[in-house]
Amino acid sequence: MSLPSSPVRDEIRAIAPYNAGLTIEEVRRRYAVTEIAKLGSNENPLGPAPALRHLFSDIGELARLYPDPEGRALRVRLALDFAVSADRVVLGNGSEDLIAVLCRTILRPGDVMATLYPSFPLHEDYAVLMGGRVERVAVTADLDVDMEALIAAARRKPRLLMLSNPMNPVGAWLTSSRLAALLSAIDPETVLVVDEAYAEYADGADCPSAVALLEGSDLSWAVLRTFSKAYGLAGLRIGYGIVSDAALTGFLDRSRTPFNTNAIAQAAALVALEDRDHLRRSVELAVGERERLRAALAVLGFRIAPSLGNFLFFGGEEESGALAERLLAKGVIVKPWKQPGFERFLRVSIGAPRENDQFLGALKAVTGR
Ligand SMILES: *Cc1c(COP(=O)(O)O)cnc(C)c1O
Repeated sequence: MSLPSSPVRDEIRAIAPYNAGLTIEEVRRRYAVTEIAKLGSNENPLGPAPALRHLFSDIGELARLYPDPEGRALRVRLALDFAVSADRVVLGNGSEDLIAVLCRTILRPGDVMATLYPSFPLHEDYAVLMGGRVERVAVTADLDVDMEALIAAARRKPRLLMLSNPMNPVGAWLTSSRLAALLSAIDPETVLVVDEAYAEYADGADCPSAVALLEGSDLSWAVLRTFSKAYGLAGLRIGYGIVSDAALTGFLDRSRTPFNTNAIAQAAALVALEDRDHLRRSVELAVGERERLRAALAVLGFRIAPSLGNFLFFGGEEESGALAERLLAKGVIVKPWKQPGFERFLRVSIGAPRENDQFLGALKAVTGR
């Protein structure tokens, strides 16, 4: 029905639909379970900071008026935190929006976008959408970053080098020495994007933000952060980038839609930044539960990737789609990985202790381990 005369671009056809998984309601309906553990999307079980309740009681004007297209208040606040000028901060409707904006701004048809693999699918998808060619640097056999291959890929001067640190779905990371080695291999013609969606969970480990290392380098770069994970605001859609220079920020601003971040999300992010205690509690819960789950999965005999994120990537002998389906029937939502070579792996988000227990109990029941 759809062949050569179709108006749809080949780049769109090449992209697999985003695998967002089932909602809690869908799982309730389809599987007739009442107690659900939603561990497929790396959300924060504690949700947003309690102070946000005040914001939502006063939402009228925020909803009535157009948002500030510059997002001044939030950008000034973030600039302070990162010790950069406000004209080096760009806001996005989630950081996924900024991944799209960066690809749109930089990639021409045929340009190479190098990334880690298995990857955050959107890093690849938006590059494909722009007609870019994706070059994957696969993890090593022990599910760690392959530094030699990554440095070799950087030396080939891709137009865009985009990776998450810590990685997603594999939780491996670049230490400060790895990051320094990588930066010294990058050509100034390459734009580097470091997606630090899980940086807050890695605080205290040897997994530094790239911002400090990149300051003063002659590279063009953007470091992406989000309020969706440790700040518990995934539903509001707000993320940001720290950018190498104001000129590049200006181009990104032209490439995004003017009102890409809504007023409620901008205001909520500002409130969320004030509650350091809530952030600390969220991170402590995730790290403590992650290590409890890791130990339990190891006892069950699964292979588990290193992780500094609020998730674990683990695999056994079985194809993961079927295993995930049986977990759904017990009310547990996880993410079966579908990228070639990793179809026996699942990513489980670290939830509240009750959800994590439900996950472990269901996993034991359905695998008989
Ligand atoms: C979750 C995640 C994001 C965040 O996306 P938002 O659009 O900000 O919700 C970005 N990058 C990676 C690697 C992620 O895992």
